[in-house]
Amino acid sequence: MTETPAPPAPSFRSDMTVELVKHSASDTDVLWAARVSTAGEQSLDELNKDPERSKGLINFLMRDRHGSPFEHNSLTFFISAPLFVFREFHRHRVGWSYNEESGRYRQLQPVFYVPDADRKLVQQGRPGKYEFVPGTEEQHELTSRSMADVYRKAYETYEEMLAAGVAREVARAVLPVGLYSSMYATCNARSLMHFLGLRTQHEQARVPSFPQREIEMVGELMEEQWAKLMPLTHAAFNANGRVAP
Ligand SMILES: Cc1cc2nc3c(=O)[nH]c(=O)nc-3n(C[C@H](O)[C@H](O)[C@H](O)COP(=O)(O)OP(=O)(O)OC[C@H]3O[C@@H](n4cnc5c(N)ncnc54)[C@H](O)[C@@H]3O)c2cc1C
Repeated sequence: MTETPAPPAPSFRSDMTVELVKHSASDTDVLWAARVSTAGEQSLDELNKDPERSKGLINFLMRDRHGSPFEHNSLTFFISAPLFVFREFHRHRVGWSYNEESGRYRQLQPVFYVPDADRKLVQQGRPGKYEFVPGTEEQHELTSRSMADVYRKAYETYEEMLAAGVAREVARAVLPVGLYSSMYATCNARSLMHFLGLRTQHEQARVPSFPQREIEMVGELMEEQWAKLMPLTHAAFNANGRVAP
């Protein structure tokens, strides 16, 4: 007799994970693309001749918003985050490719988001001019407890429906947006900069944005990895107010 495997127990997380799984991205890709304008097919030889000039050229391209040289590179991230983060993420249409795990072809795993103690819980101010302040211990306790209760109940119901023969694509409707999902997201430096300009807050930003903290956490992790691959481009992005070229 075969035993039925025990249903997975719900687990709760507060973090986002971003793994750079594949890349072809360097500052020389930008220089090579830009110099084709003036050096034609000789542009590759020009790359390492004069580092200061290279830095200056990248800064000029960023400042004057000559964007296309920043597109000749590719970064693929594997991202794990709640559905409500992906919902915001997928609004970024240009220069992005996505593939996300399916809730139709496999049973969704019970991993759910609960904010940690550092997450500012209380919103103050008027639309367009909000600020977030820390919550009290009671507010944190209420948030964690309520979320865990609802997540457990929702997943129990999901499993009950699956066990009764209801299709995964129908049963998943009972699961909340705090459920974790995973996806591959591929972009280039230009589309990533546009994303970062909107989805992170930064003291060097010329046009401040007010993203939800959880998508900002994903953005910060992507930026950290991208900055190591393209340090001159990253520095020029910051120096020019974090406005994508
Ligand atoms: C803080 C914040 C709050 C937000 N709040 C809301 C909200 O309340 N409701 C809501 O629906 N969305 C909201 N959004 C999403 C926002 O409106 C954008 O959809 C999202 O930021 C993607 O930006 P984008 O269109 O510039 O990016 P992409 O889709 O990647 O486009 C990049 C650029 O390409 C050009 N482009 C792309 N498509 C077109 C087009 N069809 N026509 C002309 N030009 C185009 C534009 O120049 C655009 O900036 C919010 C975003 C942020 C950052």
